[in-house]
Amino acid sequence: MKTIFLFLLSVFLYSSLLNAQNKVLIIGIDGCRPDALLKANTPNLDKLWKNGAYSFNTKTDEISSSGICWTGMLTGVWHEKHNVLTNSYKNPNIKEYPHFFRRIKQAKPELKTYSIVTWAPIHKILQKDDANMVKSPLLDRGVTSKVVRTIRKKDVDVLFLQLDFVDHAGHKHDFSAESKKYLTAIETADKQIGKMIKALKSRKNYENENWLILVSTDHGGSEFGHGKNIPEHTTTFFIASGSKDVQKGEITKQVYVVDIAVTALKHLGINIKKEWKLDGSVSGLK
Ligand SMILES: [Zn+2]
Repeated sequence: MKTIFLFLLSVFLYSSLLNAQNKVLIIGIDGCRPDALLKANTPNLDKLWKNGAYSFNTKTDEISSSGICWTGMLTGVWHEKHNVLTNSYKNPNIKEYPHFFRRIKQAKPELKTYSIVTWAPIHKILQKDDANMVKSPLLDRGVTSKVVRTIRKKDVDVLFLQLDFVDHAGHKHDFSAESKKYLTAIETADKQIGKMIKALKSRKNYENENWLILVSTDHGGSEFGHGKNIPEHTTTFFIASGSKDVQKGEITKQVYVVDIAVTALKHLGINIKKEWKLDGSVSGLK
């Protein structure tokens, strides 16, 4: 009797290991140039990329403004398809190219999706029931505490968050690795991200969860601004970390902002359909 029990127990434990729940945390740092990120003192982000897959030569949309680029990241297509051409989000083509949360809900309605951002317009492409929680606290500090609480307490499968104050610092003090105040803003974001990662690791069921952590930005910048199709504005970074499914090291192919939604969908076990006409491809995974 005891042997049968032990046998069943081990079968159960083995199958629960095989069925580790795949989950995704996407951290977006608005307006964070890769060269400045590398120069700033960012122990938490360094740990992520050094133990993960990374590209510091990622490309964002040629219209390097927030609305356009965040939409590219979250739909997996370029502006010609999603049709967000300015930060006023007139007529986004969300019927054909919805937020990737919608693709998740269609394929796996049981998965729980969360979006917590400082820059609220990001949510303009969300449709009814795409997200289980949509929040836009006024400050990055508010986003951080909301994210920490959510990660600790809620049944989360996918969480997207955006921090906005690195972009503010760029506009005010210059988007430059030479700008002390811009670097300080990146260091503040790194501390906030540290708190979120700590919360993630303290989840009750963390050992049985397979979290993929993606970190990126919407655009770079120069001379107190961005929006142009020049390398200083369109060169970004991409980090994939946390999961055993990550192919560690520098990613040798060209990575694009539109890869993020596609990579997240792939990790969640969602079949990427041809008819979705997504522009991105999977990056940083085995
Ligand atoms: Zn900006």
